[in-house]
Amino acid sequence: MVTAIDAQGWVMVVQRMREVVAAQSGRLSALDSTVGDGDHGTALAAALESAARRVVSLKAPTPQSVLQAAGSVIQDTMGGAAGALFGAFFLGAAQTMAGQTATALPEAAALVAGGLAEVQKRGKALPGDKTMVDALAPAAAALRAAVEAGRPLCEGLEHAATAAERGAEATAALVARHGRARFLGERSRGHQDAGATSAAMLLRALAEAVTLVDMDGPTLTGR
Ligand code: ADP
Ligand code: MG
Repeated sequence: MVTAIDAQGWVMVVQRMREVVAAQSGRLSALDSTVGDGDHGTALAAALESAARRVVSLKAPTPQSVLQAAGSVIQDTMGGAAGALFGAFFLGAAQTMAGQTATALPEAAALVAGGLAEVQKRGKALPGDKTMVDALAPAAAALRAAVEAGRPLCEGLEHAATAAERGAEATAALVARHGRARFLGERSRGHQDAGATSAAMLLRALAEAVTLVDMDGPTLTGR
């Protein structure tokens, strides 16, 4: 059972994120087109494509440098609100891994909380504002609870992904207060938020990378 994600493990996580979003980019853009400009899926898929290429090429990666490289590439290549905010998520997450060689569950909880804090610092969205925060905040809470309950890493990440998916689904009932969708006011109700949906996909990819990897060592690595 994988108990921690090391630098190569994080490279695999970014690759899994790329795969998951590439497969679902049509759905994400469709969600964005009902209340936004319809670019979310293609923009995020392209940014993760570049991020995956970049992290594979790192010479002596650490968890921090992998997350940092991914965040920088996303900020540099993805336009729109979500490019800056997903970039901020990865950069905030990277900071929490300074000096550490692997991410066990307590570090994973701190990492998602750190990423969320950076997103909120930049975007000023609160839970309930119909943004990616509505997926990330429940995920951070689920991870905190899993740490307190002494759960294994894969279970904590699974709970986080499920909490994020539920949070994303629940955005359908909300009115947007940020991003382009806020211009629609009440009319944004009834549509699931694109950024919350993609944030949940990233957390699902993280859980899958750890769960599906075909190995039994103590860390998730590229072996
Ligand atoms: P744009 O709206 O610039 O085209 P995208 O379509 O890529 O950007 O992303 C839209 C998503 O960004 C929204 O669905 C929402 O989840 C997220 N978002 C927008 N503004 C904010 C904000 N201030 N804080 C958090 N997330 C936000
Ligand atoms: Mg858009």
